[in-house]
Amino acid sequence: MRVFINPGHGGKDPGAVGNGLREKDIVLKIARKMVDQLKIYDVEVKMFRSDDTYYTLEQICNEANRWNADLFVSIHVNAGGGTGFESYIYSGLSNNSTTAKYRQVIHEEIMKKIPNVRDRGKKKANFYVLGNTKMPAILTENLFIDNKTDATKLKSDAFLTDVATGHVNGIVKALKLQKKQTQKDVPKSSTSNKKNVYYRVVTGSFTNRSNAEKRVAELKKAGYDSFIERFEK
Ligand SMILES: [Zn+2]
Repeated sequence: MRVFINPGHGGKDPGAVGNGLREKDIVLKIARKMVDQLKIYDVEVKMFRSDDTYYTLEQICNEANRWNADLFVSIHVNAGGGTGFESYIYSGLSNNSTTAKYRQVIHEEIMKKIPNVRDRGKKKANFYVLGNTKMPAILTENLFIDNKTDATKLKSDAFLTDVATGHVNGIVKALKLQKKQTQKDVPKSSTSNKKNVYYRVVTGSFTNRSNAEKRVAELKKAGYDSFIERFEK
């Protein structure tokens, strides 16, 4: 599974601004937390953009399509007088589409992590990135930067972690992602109760020590480290 995470805006495009905040900075923080949290899952993740760089919407869609993502998630912060969280899928999609099903789960999981935030609903819109990506694509609008109460939340790193965790929980549930198998999870029988096994290379046994030393010298000359071990038989 491949998840493409797109923090909106960047570079010359700050996105929405208000209360000393810029949308491009907040969404990058959320996206970075998501990438970090997804590391324990068996999934490939691409964050585009990964820094404060401007890309056109066309470049972003082309990259997601070229990479063959299974899910595209674009992260935004709202503005324009309101409060709360809302999510979008492309307007042409039916409620039975895979995209709508994924969005349902992701939206719910996000709201679970931010229960004190107003749920503005699951919406549809003709956004460029939703219409020009070939895979299921969703866009989230995470609170209002020009609303004092929302902005206070957006200034809290713990709150942004909750927003990221909500996204990740939703993605994991929607795509049925499994945790990566770590050494700890491997059944005990295959790792413990097993002696270390070494293989010794013998290039000769000699009754005369000087012959043994001669062989060692030859091996050293040829670039092989060797030593003499005495044994009795
Ligand atoms: Zn935006």
